Amino acid sequence: MCVFAHPDDEAYTVAGSLAKLTDEGIPATVLCFTRGEAGMIADGSGATRETLGEVREGELRAACKTVGVTDVRIVGTPDGGTAVTPDNIEAIVGAIRELRPRVVVTMEPEGVTRHPDHIAVSAMTTDAFAIARDAGDGAPSRLYYGAIPASFLDALMTESRRLGLPSFADPDDPLAPRSAPDSSIACVADVPRWVDRKAEALRAHRTQATEMIAWLPEELYAQVLGAEAFQRRWPDHVPGAPMEDDLFAAFRDESGTVR
Ligand SMILES: [Zn+2]
Repeated sequence: MCVFAHPDDEAYTVAGSLAKLTDEGIPATVLCFTRGEAGMIADGSGATRETLGEVREGELRAACKTVGVTDVRIVGTPDGGTAVTPDNIEAIVGAIRELRPRVVVTMEPEGVTRHPDHIAVSAMTTDAFAIARDAGDGAPSRLYYGAIPASFLDALMTESRRLGLPSFADPDDPLAPRSAPDSSIACVADVPRWVDRKAEALRAHRTQATEMIAWLPEELYAQVLGAEAFQRRWPDHVPGAPMEDDLFAAFRDESGTVR
């Protein structure tokens, strides 16, 4: 189960892993707080300021479908105004109780870009996970935070400069992606076989088509989209411990099958 603030957060953070896991028959749900109605509107996307929320909900459903996720739920909080409230936490707890996911994924506590909605959703998901765990039976057993390792971002910045591309992390942009220390990363999901579907999921967010996926050359897809990194909040990651290569690594037997 994934919990995010906006349509397209799921595509950047976890779409490759979702494609891989749903291909194996593992069910997944995306719980998204807002409809992204305050976001940009790319030329030719057909959306207006009035219809953007509705259009982006449709884009989210289409993007999720390309990676095998048909259970998409919207809480309906305002884009740019999603706060930590008991009701919002309860929305996540309720979904956990109903779905009994083994793995919960959200963004790292700084929200990758420090968007206030991302930060609120990360905090609420962490609280909801703890509440569900404390309640026992059927509780989720692993909580991951999507993050960008410093070494990934450095390599991408170098590569984008070499190719004369726009910057991946413009220091003047207050919402530019920020990296996390490599030592904080517990899982790097290698998803090269699912890169094309991740790219398709990103492109399904047509109103956001001025974002990275619009200008990223295909020769960089494997590097930029082929690995998804996560911190692990529960059980707590110990720096230096062996790296997991999959969000369900803990549930695989020796043949790699999820039990
Ligand atoms: Zn977002």
